[in-house]
Amino acid sequence: RKPGDRPEPRPGILDIAAYDPGRTTATGGAKLYKLAANETPLGPSPAAAAAFLACRDGLEIYPDASAPELRDAIGAAHGILPSRIVCGNGSDELLAMVARAYLGPGDEAIHTEYGFLIYPIAIRAAGATPVAAPEKNYTTYVDGILDCLTPRTRAVFLANPNNPTGTYVPFSEIRRLHAALPPHVLLVLDAAYAEYVRRNDYESGIELVGQSQNVVMTRTFSKIHGLASLRIGWLYGPEAIVDALNRVRGPFNISVPAIKAGVAALGDRAHVEASVAHNDEWMLRVSHALETLGLEVTPSVTNFVLIHFPTTPGHTAAEAELFLLERGVVLRGVAGYGLRNALRMTIGSAEANEAAIAGLKAFMSGGN
Ligand code: PMP
Repeated sequence: RKPGDRPEPRPGILDIAAYDPGRTTATGGAKLYKLAANETPLGPSPAAAAAFLACRDGLEIYPDASAPELRDAIGAAHGILPSRIVCGNGSDELLAMVARAYLGPGDEAIHTEYGFLIYPIAIRAAGATPVAAPEKNYTTYVDGILDCLTPRTRAVFLANPNNPTGTYVPFSEIRRLHAALPPHVLLVLDAAYAEYVRRNDYESGIELVGQSQNVVMTRTFSKIHGLASLRIGWLYGPEAIVDALNRVRGPFNISVPAIKAGVAALGDRAHVEASVAHNDEWMLRVSHALETLGLEVTPSVTNFVLIHFPTTPGHTAAEAELFLLERGVVLRGVAGYGLRNALRMTIGSAEANEAAIAGLKAFMSGGN
């Protein structure tokens, strides 16, 4: 093959490792317990499901993807201006839109060492270079990020809490980071798991966006609202940034069923509270049960836990993953994040959590 004899992607595109969504099936077991994608065991609000089902008529009509109805509902729920919100096909799309609008060849963007894998993908897809800032104890630390700043830095992508580690940096630290960033550097706060954080200082995140020209926050309906399949995310930012994102946004990037279901989900606070309460209860029980088995668990403020395995042959994460799959339990391998001897477990239904704990107990005792 000679250079120029076929189309080539732009430089950097082939450096992207395509996002691996993880396994969706098991190899054995009478039932499938999928605890691999941080989906909520309670599912969506019945009101959201009903709103979705009511969308049968009008499927031939293009949606108004500027989504005024959904932005109004989000604005009312969070006390923010709808004109400063843009909705996306999941928050993944919004992160990619930010990268597309604000990064290009020659630019650098910082993410943390075990940060969400979509960041380096979005950064590379925009032609820019991702820079991984070190973490301490699987937790973001601000000085590690500041040490990575160069004259080429144009953005910092930070999931708080982070996936797959489940850890969290207090908002005072985010403010310290913001204060140290030059004003032309965009700070992207990815708050996909915000609703699970009990020390909920996310309203200060919203306050910071409101006060700054260089901070945006992304949120999702995929986690606490149980609408992952409908792909609904939103971004809150300064009007100038929202304007830029609307210029690169796909014209019909969010569907009418998604908009209607999203509005209904926001109206069902009781469902959100029940989902958080279930998670709180089972996070404690699961973490405690795993520690009792001698497994190390990174303390999590989200709806998943990172489990570290012994390095002794027969007890490693890769072996545990296969062992559990035979029992119908699907956990998430996180080797792609550089976490080679850990698995991520989503907090699921009582039955699924018990199945995972029983499976790990059998695995750790080396039997069946
Ligand atoms: N950010 C983080 C930290 C996530 O874990 C996820 C989901 N895996 C997302 C963003 C994207 O979620 P969605 O595109 O479904 O809104």
